[in-house]
Amino acid sequence: MSNKNVTLIGAGLVGSLLSIYLAKRGYKVNVFERRPDMRKATMSAGKSINLALSDRGWRALEGVGIADEIRKIAIPMYGRHIHNKNGTTSFQPYGKDNQAIYSVSRADINMKLMDLAEQQPNVKINFDERCTQIDRTVLETHFENNTTKSTTSIKSDLVFGADGAFAASRLNMQLSTDRFEYNQHYIEAGYKELIIPPGKDGSFMMEKNALHIWPRGSFMMIALPNLDGNFTCTLFLPFEGEKSFANLKTKEQIKAFFETEFPDAVPLMPTLLDDFMNNPTSSLVTVKCFPWTFDNKIALIGDAAHAIVPFFGQGMICGFEDCVVLNNLITKHNEDWEKIFPEYQELRKPDGDAIADMAIANFIEMRDRTADPKFLLQKKIEARFSSKYPEKWIPFYSMVVYSPDIRYSTAMREGQRQEAIMQKIMAMPDIETKWESEEVEKAILGYLKQ
Ligand SMILES: Cc1cc2nc3c(=O)[nH]c(=O)nc-3n(C[C@H](O)[C@H](O)[C@H](O)COP(=O)(O)OP(=O)(O)OC[C@H]3O[C@@H](n4cnc5c(N)ncnc54)[C@H](O)[C@@H]3O)c2cc1C
Repeated sequence: MSNKNVTLIGAGLVGSLLSIYLAKRGYKVNVFERRPDMRKATMSAGKSINLALSDRGWRALEGVGIADEIRKIAIPMYGRHIHNKNGTTSFQPYGKDNQAIYSVSRADINMKLMDLAEQQPNVKINFDERCTQIDRTVLETHFENNTTKSTTSIKSDLVFGADGAFAASRLNMQLSTDRFEYNQHYIEAGYKELIIPPGKDGSFMMEKNALHIWPRGSFMMIALPNLDGNFTCTLFLPFEGEKSFANLKTKEQIKAFFETEFPDAVPLMPTLLDDFMNNPTSSLVTVKCFPWTFDNKIALIGDAAHAIVPFFGQGMICGFEDCVVLNNLITKHNEDWEKIFPEYQELRKPDGDAIADMAIANFIEMRDRTADPKFLLQKKIEARFSSKYPEKWIPFYSMVVYSPDIRYSTAMREGQRQEAIMQKIMAMPDIETKWESEEVEKAILGYLKQ
């Protein structure tokens, strides 16, 4: 067991989980969180963002024995429930054998992780403390209290920056590191949270165990269930252009847009117009950077190292997986951080980059392709082939979401190979009528051998 002191910046999703991993190994973990304690502040109803949690995330939670606690606040979603513009709906299962991803409220899981962290005798979370600087020469981290404006300086053996997409820890390292690579990209769409409240008896107003999608080409709306019968809806829409946030300024414009684009959702959204006017429009960023570790004493983790857009539902999960990899390396190198940190960034950087790129690509798939009959046929062919030859073809989505043993970078490479094969298959004459034939099956087998 170690007696090292760790300073951990940020008690968000990843910081809280990392504190548990390190505490269980005997590290004394001092966590500093900029915000007040969210467990004491009252959250207004309908303001809760929810997140999709899947196998890689569950594995990380199981690693410290807390998955069952989180399962209590999670709702399984077995597939995509597609809402077409003409009012028809369809269901696309996520995988086979009732495979699911889970909807969890971001606030609920964060608060639960903080509770579980504080149950460790060697974790202390200090709230309202904002990191202002990391002095690398003496490994001293500086904080300012939000209320009193008093400052604190903490020396420790290790420092982790888990302070999210706009991390102060990363900026500090960027400013003090020669040849620091940094890339930040905003996509053209932003998002706004809306709400479908429960019925009078508290019941869910749509299918509870599904992720609802209204795909509309250049934009889309999604809805995830909450335990209290609400659905949190997220509208992803370009900032500028014909159909854009810029053109939704008045209540009349908003009403007309929703009635045209999401006619089946409008009757379920009684507070739509006020919510739209009052809730913020937020932007979506990808951040890539390198290195992630400094002097073998400081490391970035979670969104601080790799912020991604939310379209694969993997941002938090990728950060959770960082914790698993780090933990395995602590065992492998017997707490020798001179070896752990270099290998941590060498292993995780390609995977962080891969999930960042796959998340962007999945935006296009969700908003554009989930309503396209050709795409649906392609998925049917893949599913059929995969169920017959599971050892030869794991569907791309399953590799990313349900296969924690397959690295993101491997899943991306394999997914690109599969897509190239499927483009050739979809170009076969009369594919619509012969998709279940032996000819198609043989063609795929042939391409796989090439
Ligand atoms: C709309 C949307 C939907 C998403 N959906 C999903 C999903 O379905 N599944 C999924 O896995 N991921 C999803 N994500 C991504 C997920 O929210 C992030 O990847 C995750 O929150 C990252 O966790 P983190 O702990 O690294 O950062 P954060 O959760 O951002 O936590 C960082 C913490 O650091 C604190 N902090 C910041 N600066 C300082 C400072 N200077 N000093 C001290 N503390 C500081 C912050 O207050 C915060 O508590 C989504 C993101 C968005 C925007």
